[in-house]
Amino acid sequence: MVDVLFRLKLQFWMNPKSKIQNPKSKMLEYSEPVAKLIDEFKRLPGIGHKSAQRLAFHILRRSEEEVTRFVEALQEVKEKIVFCSVCNNLTDINPCMFCSSTTRDRSIICVVEEPYNLVSVEKTRSFKGLYHILHGSLSPIRGVGPDELMLANLLPRLMPENNDGAEVREVIVATNPTTEGEATANYIARLLKPLGVRVTRIAMGMPVGSDLEFVDEVTMDKALTNRHEI
Ligand SMILES: [Zn+2]
Repeated sequence: MVDVLFRLKLQFWMNPKSKIQNPKSKMLEYSEPVAKLIDEFKRLPGIGHKSAQRLAFHILRRSEEEVTRFVEALQEVKEKIVFCSVCNNLTDINPCMFCSSTTRDRSIICVVEEPYNLVSVEKTRSFKGLYHILHGSLSPIRGVGPDELMLANLLPRLMPENNDGAEVREVIVATNPTTEGEATANYIARLLKPLGVRVTRIAMGMPVGSDLEFVDEVTMDKALTNRHEI
């Protein structure tokens, strides 16, 4: 004990600016490269400290070839993937495959929050129009206003001269059924309706294959509001 106190005092005398640390607690810390990797993982969305630690140690246990492949994939995606100048989709060709397609219906645009939402709509194979990706949704709590969304380039697209001569008849707002998604949908509707374009919202209600018994009242209310003739 006396020895530890003496060493701490000695450390302070030799470098008065350094914080006195218990040598035992220092042993518990990660080495700098590991701590740096954990910090980088913590920056990713939805990753807390524990998940970051798990990911860092997963990487440490992988072979060098596997890690190199992972690093190259990260670098390649940053080098080759850009935002589509028309719809903001992430793409390796600009304009993207949807905007440059000659078979898609240019008179209808589906607005989504994230590129992976586009994938969900596309999987249905029932939508043949174009897309517009906002890369987020309005959220005053998170400090996301209209200027933070990729929305400014939606309005010019409604003019036929910017849309290969085709007039946009309808804009489908397919943002998430969350408070932020609804606020974003309302904002877009207020923005576009004065321009005379039809603005529609995707229907919300019962999930397919579910039972009425297990559906919450908000979903049930939406399902009743969005009912249709059979
Ligand atoms: Zn595009």
